[in-house]
Amino acid sequence: MSVFVFLEGSEGKIKKSSKEAISYAVEVGKIIGDDEIIAIVLGVYEDTDLEKLGNNGATRVINVNDEKLNENQISIYAQIISEIIQSGSANLVIMTKSSFSDNVGARIAGKTGASIVSNVVSLPDVSSGFSVRKSIFTGKAFATVSLSGEKKVLIIKRNVIELMENGDKADVEKNPIPDNLKFNEKITGLEKAEGDILLDDAEIVVSGGRGLKGPENWGMIEELARALGAATGCSKPVSDIGWRPHHEHVGQTGVKVSPNLYIAVGISGAIQHLAGVNSSKVLVAINEDPDAPFFKAADYGIVGDAFEIIPKLTEKIKSL
Ligand SMILES: Cc1cc2nc3c(=O)[nH]c(=O)nc-3n(C[C@H](O)[C@H](O)[C@H](O)COP(=O)(O)OP(=O)(O)OC[C@H]3O[C@@H](n4cnc5c(N)ncnc54)[C@H](O)[C@@H]3O)c2cc1C
Repeated sequence: MSVFVFLEGSEGKIKKSSKEAISYAVEVGKIIGDDEIIAIVLGVYEDTDLEKLGNNGATRVINVNDEKLNENQISIYAQIISEIIQSGSANLVIMTKSSFSDNVGARIAGKTGASIVSNVVSLPDVSSGFSVRKSIFTGKAFATVSLSGEKKVLIIKRNVIELMENGDKADVEKNPIPDNLKFNEKITGLEKAEGDILLDDAEIVVSGGRGLKGPENWGMIEELARALGAATGCSKPVSDIGWRPHHEHVGQTGVKVSPNLYIAVGISGAIQHLAGVNSSKVLVAINEDPDAPFFKAADYGIVGDAFEIIPKLTEKIKSL
């Protein structure tokens, strides 16, 4: 039996967060006794990039290499993946959480009769059935969910597992696009977020709040982000006032990020903001108010004036 992993990509690049699902699948495979980890990639990608998925734990990659699939269409993806799973008689499909994968996963479960759980934060416990822990209430609590269906879809949160890198290459199998697909939706316009690094896939995020006083002061945030190879984010009021674009707004009502490092500059740490960052690995707060709530959630904090600290921090990082 095999474990299938669905990988998401964008513009010919597979998302790093998606690759974590392969490494998670390897660990699940060890628990349930399946050592064939099959990655499913839809759309046009370089063969070398597909082979490199072996480095993260995939033994085989199934790629439907057709540019019609470069647009992420939920129903089409769900149909193709369900057919691959059923023809390969897999009982377990794993993917990393995103709004797209939540939709695709739910449809796969509907088509195949699988049990499904999203926001998974643990490896399965198979001591009595098959159960996993999931994060609920924007990360403030956890639920244990038992899945009784023979087929299962697990949608894992980012950063629940270290990305494995073992230097292996995967076998790549090209499948033709099925001829029974009905493309009922088409993207006719696209407005792209600015910046090289996508916020929801960034390993490091530098975020600014109202403490930065105005949009004219964002140069230092961008410079720090460039020095770190980070994406930039902001608090809700900052995007509401128009200091920064809305796609940068992080929090309960904005983008939920899970980077390895989140640096909050001049952000108070309201619960609605923390709800979007609390699955980050390391939180750093920079705030002039020692009683700012962010310091209670942060792993590291600097009490002081951001206008003095950020330029010094950027210079130091550049010199490293
Ligand atoms: C239903 C609802 C949903 C919401 N959703 C979100 C959400 O998704 N995301 C979100 O961010 N907010 C959200 N909010 C708003 C949230 O409650 C806070 O109001 C908001 O996060 C505060 O933004 P801020 O920290 O940038 O500003 P402020 O609360 O004004 O804090 C500014 C901080 O900057 C510090 N500061 C000032 N000057 C300096 C300086 N020179 N150097 C260093 N620090 C300095 C201050 O000490 C202060 O802590 C939501 C609110 C509601 C009611």
